[in-house]
Amino acid sequence: MAKRDYYEILELSRSASQDEIKKAYRKAAMKWHPDRNPGNKEAEEKFKESAEAYEVLSDDTKRRRYDQFGHEGMRAGSDFHTYTNFNDVFQHFSDIFGGGIGGSIFEDVFTGGRSSSRGRTQVGTPGSDLKIRLKLSLEEIASGVEKKLKVKRWKGCDICNGSGAKLGSSKINCPVCNGNGEVRQVSRSVFGQFISVTTCTNCGGEGRIIKERCTGCHGEGRLQGETTIKVNVPAGVSEGNYIPLQGQGNAGQRGGEPGDLIVVIEEDSHPIFTRNGDDILLDLLVSYPQAVMGVDIEIPIISGKAKLKIEPGTQSGKILRLRGKGIPNLRGDYRGDQLVRVNVYVPTHLSKEDKELIKQLSKSENVQPHEGDKSAHSDKTFFEKMKDILS
Ligand SMILES: [Zn+2]
Ligand SMILES: [Zn+2]
Repeated sequence: MAKRDYYEILELSRSASQDEIKKAYRKAAMKWHPDRNPGNKEAEEKFKESAEAYEVLSDDTKRRRYDQFGHEGMRAGSDFHTYTNFNDVFQHFSDIFGGGIGGSIFEDVFTGGRSSSRGRTQVGTPGSDLKIRLKLSLEEIASGVEKKLKVKRWKGCDICNGSGAKLGSSKINCPVCNGNGEVRQVSRSVFGQFISVTTCTNCGGEGRIIKERCTGCHGEGRLQGETTIKVNVPAGVSEGNYIPLQGQGNAGQRGGEPGDLIVVIEEDSHPIFTRNGDDILLDLLVSYPQAVMGVDIEIPIISGKAKLKIEPGTQSGKILRLRGKGIPNLRGDYRGDQLVRVNVYVPTHLSKEDKELIKQLSKSENVQPHEGDKSAHSDKTFFEKMKDILS
């Protein structure tokens, strides 16, 4: 069968830019990818054809040669090869499939081919990452904490040391690929010699196979189990921060690299404190006499208790700052503050005598607000700021 024109395959004009070529190939690869067209031979051919066209047109030297000499220009002696295997295509074009624009969608399409695309150096199949949520109290966040996590995961089989092979029986070279992990085929055509390379299906590209399976893990090299893992959480973390623990995820199959364990931090709400960055906010109630006469009181702070001086004549809504009593900054060597909003308590249950006393008090001119008196909220910017903080 005569080869189709590369521009025709990708539906491009002869003057197409590199950008247009890349886009056209992406489109074609998405359309004809075997995962989307299972069992469709024609799609498979078109997928390979597109890859071949892209390899030539995306390379300026090869493209010039092709423009000048057509398919004849691509003959033996060049480093040109055809694609017979999807992993092969994937590896070769990882620059346009991996990351960047359109990365995520291609990830979905191509995941099937990835695990076995690492070739000969790979042993087994890598384990997957695990994500685990860790809820912390504000006190734990303020002090930093060591936590023990119970994790259900695949772990390496102790009997065979993860190899999957029965004790005393080691792995042997794969007889199909002679331990190479891939099978090469050389074919000749009028255009010259083509070399195609496919991953060995017998050993999955590993080059070694198990002669006798381990009885503990049935040849998997790993078992499901529960493990306790210690994690050190530094002080000052916030909701959504995560701690990656390398190699603590799922064990790989037959000695494959283990995945990572990702610990995602969650912050539990606190009954009396509100967090704002590194600062801690506390709403405090004092009695009318305390606000009027002033008082030294003990208030809760994140690390215990602290003394706070309420000056005589403190207005309701006044915000007092306890420097360095907040949360340690995760990246710096300083602590936030604790902000205390003083609120004057208005009693609702009063005896007859209480009412009489207050009536007496109300006769004094001095307990009435005077013109020009301001509440603690009158500092607009500060009030607005607090509204933001407390909302
Ligand atoms: Zn085993
Ligand atoms: Zn093999």
